[in-house]
Amino acid sequence: MIRVLATDVVSKIAAGEVIERPASVVKELVENSLDAGATQITIEARSGGVETVKVSDNGAGIASPELELAFHRHATSKIGDLEDLERISSLGFRGEALPSIAAVAETEILTKTSSDTVGSYLHLTRGQVARKDNRARPQGTTVTVHRLFRYVPARLKFLRSSNTENGHIAHLVSQYALAFPDVRFSLILDKRQTLHTTGNGDLRDVVNELYGPEVAQRMLSIDQEQDLVHITGLTSPPGLTRSNRNYLSFFVNRRWVRSPLLTRATEDAYRGLLMDGQHPMAIVSIALPAQELDVNVHPTKAQIKFCNEQTIFRSIQKAIGDVLDRAPIASSRSVPFSSTSGQWQSPRMITDSEPTFVVSQLPTLELPVLRILGQLANTYVVGEGPDGLYLIDQHAAHERILYDRILAQWSRKEIQVQGLLQPITIEFSPREEETMRASGEFLTEFGFAIEPFGNRGYLIRAIPAIVGGANVVEIVGALLDGLASSDAPSPWQERIAESLACHGAIRAGQQLSNEEMKELTKQLEQTKQPRTCPHGRPTMIHLSAHRLEKEFGRIT
Ligand code: ADP
Ligand code: MG
Repeated sequence: MIRVLATDVVSKIAAGEVIERPASVVKELVENSLDAGATQITIEARSGGVETVKVSDNGAGIASPELELAFHRHATSKIGDLEDLERISSLGFRGEALPSIAAVAETEILTKTSSDTVGSYLHLTRGQVARKDNRARPQGTTVTVHRLFRYVPARLKFLRSSNTENGHIAHLVSQYALAFPDVRFSLILDKRQTLHTTGNGDLRDVVNELYGPEVAQRMLSIDQEQDLVHITGLTSPPGLTRSNRNYLSFFVNRRWVRSPLLTRATEDAYRGLLMDGQHPMAIVSIALPAQELDVNVHPTKAQIKFCNEQTIFRSIQKAIGDVLDRAPIASSRSVPFSSTSGQWQSPRMITDSEPTFVVSQLPTLELPVLRILGQLANTYVVGEGPDGLYLIDQHAAHERILYDRILAQWSRKEIQVQGLLQPITIEFSPREEETMRASGEFLTEFGFAIEPFGNRGYLIRAIPAIVGGANVVEIVGALLDGLASSDAPSPWQERIAESLACHGAIRAGQQLSNEEMKELTKQLEQTKQPRTCPHGRPTMIHLSAHRLEKEFGRIT
């Protein structure tokens, strides 16, 4: 039964539902459908959700006499008193979503319970009931939200392109599909069927739909129970990685949460297994008693607070660590040297005290001609210059060379392309596909030939020559992620060039011949900014002759 919460309960609720973009509307409506026990949920959006968002479910429905009440602030059927607030098991509990949505849009709702003989319909304009009648429909609820923020220009102004908003919606629905494999989700964006899950309860099938068959097949199962905490899900073997954290999903009592704590615990389990900049893929579901958790800390309910953070941290780390240890080749930990993971343990050449290594403050950006002395830890090229010793990070140096080269080719419209004899098939996640539709032409400008190939599949027929030999699927994924982030500081062509350079560059840990090292330094000398990589980190450390003499006490 829907009731308005008493003021003492309201005063304890984390303030104000926030409808900040179309995806927030989708989130609230989908959560309501899930709370109503729906097993089928269909989400449709037009023009990024600004024109229309429509969510239909086959859940319990709202009884006719209570329908108007559902749009009152703090009216909810999910909690009643303060005690309930301590043990929330539903996704919603504040009774704020429907009124908040209705206040900033035009809203229609058609709903029917199993006991009502006919459905109830309500049309609200800016929160006020404009029309009310009865209509036929099977059990369940459909909420349609039109012209979001039309009367709130301040909000409208902050929305991004409809492709970006579609991307947010696709990502959100993907997360709920992962959290509820037993619910059949269907997402339709601008009349395109973008996502469809079977609802057969198998998480791997949802992963197959979202991330493709290869990922679905390779992911490792997690299932561990310890001190009232039950952790289940899937996590990637060390060879299966992504260049960002978008593929880490966490659910606590089936609520999708973003939690630095859980992210850290997961990545901790991979310590020493992944190279810098690589991230695991994981879908981690945590079930624990509701009392161990405070979900009432954040307006969008995206954050939660664990009563015992330490225990949760260790449980996750252990659950994933155990899975990785049992994985076939996982524990070989045969990863090239990585400066932050501390794999390489041989004695340091000079002293340990940091100030000994000083990045040269020479005003000139040029690089003198160097005499190559050798390679250190298969990672640094050691060279002698007119003024002392140079240690060059081979990956950073090569990145700088490739970055300059690809940008020069791009501005002359002469990208060197490598055709693939055997086209590579790739399946995009729903969000990646939205980015592909919006920004695919940028990839074309950089030499990619990518064409649609059924459902969300694509065929890659050509790639820029500088990344030949690298993992094409990973590169395209990384590029799309880079293009999707709307708040990135640098222009798109620089972001693409950076990413291509990073993937095309030789890795740390790769042995180089003397000839290769000579060629590398020669090419580095010719770049415009040889001393920094495209990300702004130094490509080299310079130990001046003066500094050496001082360190050895030859001068004071
Ligand atoms: P809350 O979810 O916090 O209770 P809402 O404003 O989202 O608040 O919804 C108000 C009430 O309307 C819910 O408590 C529920 O009883 C009812 N309701 C909303 N959406 C649905 C739905 N899809 N199916 C059944 N009942 C719903
Ligand atoms: Mg709700």
